[in-house]
Amino acid sequence: MSLGEIKDRISAAELKAGRRDGSVTLIAVSKMQPNARVEAVLLEGQRVFGENRVQEAAGKWPAFREHYEGIELHIIGPLQTNKVRQAIELSQAIHSVDRPKLASAIARVAQETGSCPELFIQVNTGEEMQKAGILPAGADGFISDCRRMDLPVAGLMCIPPVDEEPSMHFALLAKIAARNGLEGLSMGMSGDFESAIALGATHVRVGSAIFGERK
Ligand SMILES: *Cc1c(COP(=O)(O)O)cnc(C)c1O
Repeated sequence: MSLGEIKDRISAAELKAGRRDGSVTLIAVSKMQPNARVEAVLLEGQRVFGENRVQEAAGKWPAFREHYEGIELHIIGPLQTNKVRQAIELSQAIHSVDRPKLASAIARVAQETGSCPELFIQVNTGEEMQKAGILPAGADGFISDCRRMDLPVAGLMCIPPVDEEPSMHFALLAKIAARNGLEGLSMGMSGDFESAIALGATHVRVGSAIFGERK
C-alpha cells in the first residue's frame, strides 16, 4: 500500500465517523525500515514519523532533518529513564508514558531544560502481564499525578492485545480519556486504524501498511 492510499482511507474513515477532515494525525512508523523507504515517504510530503527506540531515532533523524523541513518525531516505544534527556531533545511527542518513575524523570528533565514534548499516557487496556502501561483502574490517579507534576498530558495511548477485537480496547481508552478531560487518543495501527478512527482516535500509528514489512 502507498502513503496516498492510507491517507485516503483515513479521510474516508473521518468522513464516515462524522469527523472533521484532517482531524486525525497520521504517524508514519518508520522503525526498522530501510532509509530509502523512509526517504521516499518524506519525498511524498509526509512529515510526522514514529520511532520505537530512542537509539534508532537518534541514528536516523538528525540527518533527515538537515534535508527536510518540519519533521515531527514521536517516540512510541518503551522508554528507559536514562534515555529521557535524549528523547526530549529529539522528539515532539512521547506516547509511552507508562509508569510513575518515567513521569518523574520526564518532569525533572523538562523543568531543567524548559521544554517538554506532548505526552500520551500508555494504558494497558488488556491488562496483559507482559505489556507496558498503566492498568485501567490506576489511570485516573496517574493522570492526576502527571498533571500535578505540570506535565503536558495530551492524551492516552493503547496497544490492544493481538488476539482480541481491538474496538473494545479503543472504546475503553476513549472512555478513560473523556472522563479525565483529555482530547488526544493515540490508537490504531496498520490493521485497525479505521476502527480506531470510528472510536475517536486523534493519532494513528501506521507502519507496515505504508512502508511494507520491517527488516
Ligand atoms: C510498530 C508499532 C506500530 C506500527 O505497527 P504496524 O502494525 O506496522 O502499523 C504502532 N505502534 C507501536 C507502539 C508500534 O510499536
